[in-house]
Amino acid sequence: MNLSNGVEYLAIPGPSVIPEKVLQAMHRSSPNIYEGELIDITDKIVPKLCQVAKTDGNVAMYISNGHGAWEAALSNTTNRGDKVLVAATGRFGHGWAEIAQKNGVKTEVLDFGTNSTIDLNLLETALKKDGNYKAVLITHVDTSTSVKNEIAPVRALLDDLNHDALLLVDCIASLACDEFHMDSWGADVMVAACQKGLMVPPGVSFVFFNQKAKDLQSSLKLVSSYWDWAPRINPDYYYKYFGGTAPTHHLYGLNVALDMILKEGIEAVWRRHEVLASAIWAAIESWEKGGELKANIQDKKLRSAAVTSLHVQTPKGTHIRKWLQENTGLTIGIGLGMATPNDPNGDGYFRLGHMGHVNAQMIMALIATLETAMIAVGVPHGNNAINKAASIIAKFSKP
Ligand SMILES: *Cc1c(COP(=O)(O)O)cnc(C)c1O
Repeated sequence: MNLSNGVEYLAIPGPSVIPEKVLQAMHRSSPNIYEGELIDITDKIVPKLCQVAKTDGNVAMYISNGHGAWEAALSNTTNRGDKVLVAATGRFGHGWAEIAQKNGVKTEVLDFGTNSTIDLNLLETALKKDGNYKAVLITHVDTSTSVKNEIAPVRALLDDLNHDALLLVDCIASLACDEFHMDSWGADVMVAACQKGLMVPPGVSFVFFNQKAKDLQSSLKLVSSYWDWAPRINPDYYYKYFGGTAPTHHLYGLNVALDMILKEGIEAVWRRHEVLASAIWAAIESWEKGGELKANIQDKKLRSAAVTSLHVQTPKGTHIRKWLQENTGLTIGIGLGMATPNDPNGDGYFRLGHMGHVNAQMIMALIATLETAMIAVGVPHGNNAINKAASIIAKFSKP
């Protein structure tokens, strides 16, 4: 007997669940790449992306994952030898810093650890000490710790200090999940990828940028031909959108995904994520009482609505994950960046992805199935979690 046969549910923080409509749009023969529908679709995708990102600026698209977008953003904003300041609140902040370093950019990392947000005072001290930073790199949601950092206060700080650095923001996990306003919050550059809130298989990434970043880019000594964003936002031939062959099928899928998001309304999409996340957090709060399970980020205001990082006594996090996979058809995320690779504490951590194409019944199943795993694996936990989660869903549902 195997109780996992049936619909599989991938509840990891990316890639996320792909809507049937997106899959269907991608299931087709190869389109003409010189004229016709694909070109029309691509032209329309650009303003839709900007609507989702809340920007009147530009977006360059790349055939790449998020790591590619990281490199693209740096390649268009820094010269070799320039200095950047990275505010790291988890593994993904460090990951971006490593790419900067390998690009020959001098990289100062302010490490805020694995369970808190950016300390603005420390950031201010670092910026005052050195006025030469070309850019400040921050992660809106760090997918490893599941912390959400506020963007606007960092902008305000740069403005107060009259600091010229560009503000580069990683929204790979958060775009179309957590509320984000590129222009009014003052991000100069924002990176995203298609496989998380945008509900498309991995393979396309985005670099959004404003006029300030665009002006700066034209003064750089060298921008690699492939990452150069200039031809991509103003392609005189269609192939220049992607510096070569377009990701044909991804574009069909992305177009449908963006239509789904905009039909629901981006504010409603944020709100859905918020309510579903608060149902998960209500369950966690109950489990935490008298149990060993703990949310990595204790302050709810600092939590992302797209991903939740949790821990239990090691190695039971890994046991929970494996038990779910083998017995229920539910896959949850591994802990990431919470311990060094050889540290056995790493096996205490796991993550829930709740980004993109998720609704109330999926989240209630996620909660109930996770509780089932805790029973099976032997993780003591407080009771009444499912009830608490259900009350949240009931409270915010239509009458
Ligand atoms: C997923 C993710 C990345 C990396 O994206 P890849 O597509 O795996 O290269 C970077 N930053 C954040 C915040 C992410 O969630």
